[in-house]
Amino acid sequence: MAIYFDSAATTQLDDKVIEAMYECMKDNYGNPSSTHSFGRKAKNTLETCRREIAAYFGASPSEITFTSCGTEADNLAIKCAVEELGVTRIISTEIEHKAVLSMIKNIAAIHSVEVNYVNVNEDGQVDLNHLEELLEKSDQKTLVSLMHANNEIGTLIPIKKVGDLCKSYKAYFHSDTVQTVGHFPLNFEEMGVHFAACAAHKIHGPKGIGFAYINKSITPKSMIIGGGQERGLRAGTENLIGICGLHKALSLSYSNLETDKKHISGLREYMKSELTSYFGDQIRINGCEENSLYTVLSVSFPNNDNNSLLLFKLDMKGIGLSGGSACNSGADQGSHVIRGIYPNASDYIPLRFSFCKNNTKEEVDFCLEALKELVEIKVTA
Ligand code: PLP
Repeated sequence: MAIYFDSAATTQLDDKVIEAMYECMKDNYGNPSSTHSFGRKAKNTLETCRREIAAYFGASPSEITFTSCGTEADNLAIKCAVEELGVTRIISTEIEHKAVLSMIKNIAAIHSVEVNYVNVNEDGQVDLNHLEELLEKSDQKTLVSLMHANNEIGTLIPIKKVGDLCKSYKAYFHSDTVQTVGHFPLNFEEMGVHFAACAAHKIHGPKGIGFAYINKSITPKSMIIGGGQERGLRAGTENLIGICGLHKALSLSYSNLETDKKHISGLREYMKSELTSYFGDQIRINGCEENSLYTVLSVSFPNNDNNSLLLFKLDMKGIGLSGGSACNSGADQGSHVIRGIYPNASDYIPLRFSFCKNNTKEEVDFCLEALKELVEIKVTA
């Protein structure tokens, strides 16, 4: 049995995405910047993809800049805010993805940017009163960077409320939407974001392609210097094969959204209720149940010598999942998100089950049996 429960890290390519990319690879090899017919054909495909991708998010094509991944889109937003918009203060949380956290730390050190962290509760919910207090405190040019959904514990922020707050305090708003693009209908303008991010590989698209949404009120200068691609913002011949894959992945996600959501939510609910009824209060369901990604179920098991090897033992049974973010898998300090929400984080071993449309109830059952066999719990008298 090979079971993949790590779709928040990355997903398997959809066959229809492979077909779309293959077609582009074979027949559409011109450089979109060339003026001959091969180039014009490629340019036409590029701009059609951009226009149709923008439409999913109520955006105009010029607001979509293709990037190599989600990290690049997040980095670009923060860099643009500080280096071009003159932001001198960033408000964020300690539980952002490292694509944001590390960039903030890096840029703050270079440009003497003040960084304030908003409080989050044990469910990973942002304290909106604290956010408002921070916004009120100073009239410095500010960027608020809060992820739409936490990739480790699944908690969603009330994005429209945050957008409205930012608007009333004239702050720029960046939201890392990497885990929500393709899983929720999103309208960036209505959400009040100036910057958002997407990575195709989270939604059965290819690795190596994503986009940054940059609101039309902002006209950033070159981030990668060279030719005039991406309206001069990001030089380099466009990854048209990847863009076709991203376009197809988004079109599949949004046309099957309700069916896939129902299926995935059902698996998540089933796993959660089975785990809770078997392990009871020995385990902890992380995140905020009322406001969560339906793709992610984060569960903490008691930390002991046996359970610390759980991921490895599940892997031996053919079940692939992560403790948290795949990007931190090599790090030995555990999850910064779990540390950021629980004072006694080291008492727990977090496992993140993240599901996709291809998972089945049989796979969940197999995993549940494996957990019942492998997890060591305290026996209560
Ligand atoms: N932001 C979030 C919330 C993520 O989950 C990820 C990927 O794990 C990223 C950013 C980075 O995306 P990428 O791996 O495409 O650079």
